[in-house]
Amino acid sequence: MPTTEVTETRQIDVPESHAVRGDAVDIIGIGFGPANLSLAIAVEERNAAVPPAERVRARFIERQPRFGWHDGMLLPGATMQVSFLKDLVSLRNPTSPYTFLNYLHERGRLADFINLKTFFPMRREFHDYLGWAAARVDVPVSYGATATRVAHEDGRLVVSVRDRHGSVEEVPAGTIVLGTGIRPVLPEGVVVGRRVFHNHRLLADLDQLPSRSRGRFLVVGAGQSAAEVTAFLHDTFPDAEVHASIRRFGYVPSDDTPYANRIFDPGSVDEYYTAPAELKERLLRVHSSTNYAAVDSELIEDLYRREYEEKLRGQRRLFVHRVTEIAELYEGPEGVAVTLRDLGDRGTVPLEVDAVVFATGFRAADARDLLGAGIEHEAAFDGDEPIVARDYGLRIPNLEGRVFLNGGVEHSHGLSSSLLSNLSVRAAEILGAATRAQHLHTRPAG
Ligand SMILES: Cc1cc2nc3c(=O)[nH]c(=O)nc-3n(C[C@H](O)[C@H](O)[C@H](O)COP(=O)(O)OP(=O)(O)OC[C@H]3O[C@@H](n4cnc5c(N)ncnc54)[C@H](O)[C@@H]3O)c2cc1C
Repeated sequence: MPTTEVTETRQIDVPESHAVRGDAVDIIGIGFGPANLSLAIAVEERNAAVPPAERVRARFIERQPRFGWHDGMLLPGATMQVSFLKDLVSLRNPTSPYTFLNYLHERGRLADFINLKTFFPMRREFHDYLGWAAARVDVPVSYGATATRVAHEDGRLVVSVRDRHGSVEEVPAGTIVLGTGIRPVLPEGVVVGRRVFHNHRLLADLDQLPSRSRGRFLVVGAGQSAAEVTAFLHDTFPDAEVHASIRRFGYVPSDDTPYANRIFDPGSVDEYYTAPAELKERLLRVHSSTNYAAVDSELIEDLYRREYEEKLRGQRRLFVHRVTEIAELYEGPEGVAVTLRDLGDRGTVPLEVDAVVFATGFRAADARDLLGAGIEHEAAFDGDEPIVARDYGLRIPNLEGRVFLNGGVEHSHGLSSSLLSNLSVRAAEILGAATRAQHLHTRPAG
């Protein structure tokens, strides 16, 4: 299915000629989600262990006004899809004070959590853990600031950073680490409106829904988020019908069995990286249900049971429309008129709904959106795929300094690339490569 990326609201365009020159740093991390947060912790722990002259000066840039991890989807009861042992540090340094267990200890919930007998905390709790770590880490983070461009000027890398007031700062850096995460995508032709939106801002968009006169919602998509949104709307609006349109016959259970799960182990990255192209492609395809378009089996059973009980009572509110897609969609002031089409040409279903939620996935941010003047980035891409060394460095010719991708490298480094599973080990590998690089220490600004 062709898709388009949801564009973020643009900031006021201030000419970069008015930029001020910032202090040079060794490492600048763009984005401060879990990936670069894990890197910041690795920097802090390394700096504490080396002589002052070898310490790394790092700085992170985050466009959100404060730390937030997909907070539009912090749905009540939603749980993590990864063990808490794959937190920001444990696989790299289980004795770090930044473990999830230490967080629980400091919050006074360690014993209570143990009694839950689970490896999968609630997403709300993990969000709180990540925020706790972000507030504690001793490396400067500029929130409400967006990196707009990375350039190579006078033999060094420079990042343009725009703050929330539109002022631009140019920061020279020896090493750049892009931890810019994922971007929501919509089916081609779908335009976001007040009643038509992607699930990544679900809670905020629902809060701003102009009215709810149709008493009906439609959720599009067959993955974990789509199923969670369907259940959430069904719970939250007990007077509303919830329709789900999936292109598949049924939701597919996510594979979290142990042999398949080993694909997320840090040790599997080498195996994947060195595999021939057709084996890589086959492994991604065969094991895609460990992560993509797959739903926790308990949630599948839960949705089915709800629909069944409603049939039994003769009062239907939940409808899963299998093997369907949207044929037409019109957003008006009072609601959205949608037509669902059966993919086997067995008819159409017209629906008048209050909102359509597209849980249609994400794609990795494109590094080329940031790489600008003086950087021969065409040479660092094969089609749309970045050519990335095992140490996560982009292969850009003629560059003083290095640019690393902290995420978004599934094609080269495997399925853990967009997930939390391998964050801490990857951060250590990037930091190791950056500190070994001869350009780590930048020349003074000026
Ligand atoms: C609802 C949801 C639930 C998930 N649950 C799990 C889970 O249970 N387990 C799991 O392993 N994975 C999960 N994921 C996958 C998710 O990708 C990872 O959890 C994690 O967010 C990856 O971290 P990241 O730092 O690479 O990216 P992100 O979390 O996307 O962070 C990137 C950050 O960069 C910032 N940014 C981007 N561009 C710029 C710029 N130009 N300038 C400044 N800042 C910028 C963004 O604002 C953002 O804060 C989930 C994803 C979603 C959407």
